[in-house]
Amino acid sequence: MKRVGVIGGGQLAWMMAGTAEALGIELVVQTPNPSDPAVAIASSTIFAPIDDAAATAELASRCDVITFENEFINLNALDSLVQKGVCFRPKLEVLAPLLDKYDQRCYLEDIGLPTPSFTTLEGDAENQEVNLSKSFTHPLNLQDLDFPVVLKARRGGYDGQGTFIIKDSHALESTWQRLKYAPVLLEEFVPFERELAIIAARSAAGEVVTYPVVETQQVDQVCRRVLVPAAITPTVEQEVKAIAHTLLDSLQAVGVFGIELFLTASGKVLVNEIAPRTHNSGHFTLDACETSQFEQQLRAVSGLPLGSPALKSAGAVMVNLLGYEHSQSNYLAKRQQLAELSHTHVHWYGKTESRPGRKLGHVTVLLETADRSEAEAIAQIIESIWYSEE
Ligand code: ADP
Repeated sequence: MKRVGVIGGGQLAWMMAGTAEALGIELVVQTPNPSDPAVAIASSTIFAPIDDAAATAELASRCDVITFENEFINLNALDSLVQKGVCFRPKLEVLAPLLDKYDQRCYLEDIGLPTPSFTTLEGDAENQEVNLSKSFTHPLNLQDLDFPVVLKARRGGYDGQGTFIIKDSHALESTWQRLKYAPVLLEEFVPFERELAIIAARSAAGEVVTYPVVETQQVDQVCRRVLVPAAITPTVEQEVKAIAHTLLDSLQAVGVFGIELFLTASGKVLVNEIAPRTHNSGHFTLDACETSQFEQQLRAVSGLPLGSPALKSAGAVMVNLLGYEHSQSNYLAKRQQLAELSHTHVHWYGKTESRPGRKLGHVTVLLETADRSEAEAIAQIIESIWYSEE
């Protein structure tokens, strides 16, 4: 397959460019804005919203297979394209249980994977009134909630937007009211010791590969750093890898998936979230692994055998360069300073506008040891340069 259509033109599509060229693949991108990162690397672009199915029909006419870098799509509207023979990888039915956070939790529970206790709240938006007791359907009991709890928009949330930590019933009521009583996922707050993630890929032939388990560190619910590999016991590592295998095999998925997990102080692993695509927690693979998650995605969706996910160094640390102000700067001086650090790779997504929390780029440093405190110290150096005043 020579032409791969990508729905979404952000940095995840942009990072496919190098490997696409090496594999002789052309990328055709559907994305709304001319300033979106992947427009610069696409062989052609269809400028349209992600959920515009008519635009996706046009995309299909220009490529052999369609994949996703963004899951905010309209599945029902895309169904008719499947009837006409359009090939989506992963398939639409693989995405179906994953696009809504509540459906996703239900799916994980159905296939026996561990998740936080959860339920959904469905309100009466018209009357702007909540009857919480009637809304509860699942293990969490509203009459007897152990606060804090976590409330999440069922669709459209990313980088912690749409995720709220709720301290008491008053906050629950007011937060849900702000969300106009749209259906939400409500779940137990997990007092995790660490957050973990794993990237896994499944080929069209059913082969599954998993990358090293990593530790992710969030600030204000946005990923700031990824430490590779996670400092965990072999038992936890095996458990996380087994979760990845079970999930991808159950879904019969083709493509790359990012899986985020909580590790509690007692060593319990719970799945937090599945991303049916390449993921921020896998950016280190570009520089630190034999085969990057982006190459793996293109290999999987174009029917090639998967590559080795092995690390090329003993360890690595990835730091996101997040916007911290409203600006149009390209931060060249800071990027140069970062690039001078040894064994460091700076990736800059070419976004023309910075705003607080926006992912503008990332830095990966290859390490000679897998020492967690060394990785954290290097992350701190990078952040002190990036978030400095001048
Ligand atoms: P998003 O899809 O926007 O990334 P997530 O559900 O992954 O949202 O939540 C973002 C972050 O919020 C997580 O990485 C974690 O730090 C925190 N968080 C989410 N759910 C819980 C929970 N049930 N208990 C404790 N912290 C949570």
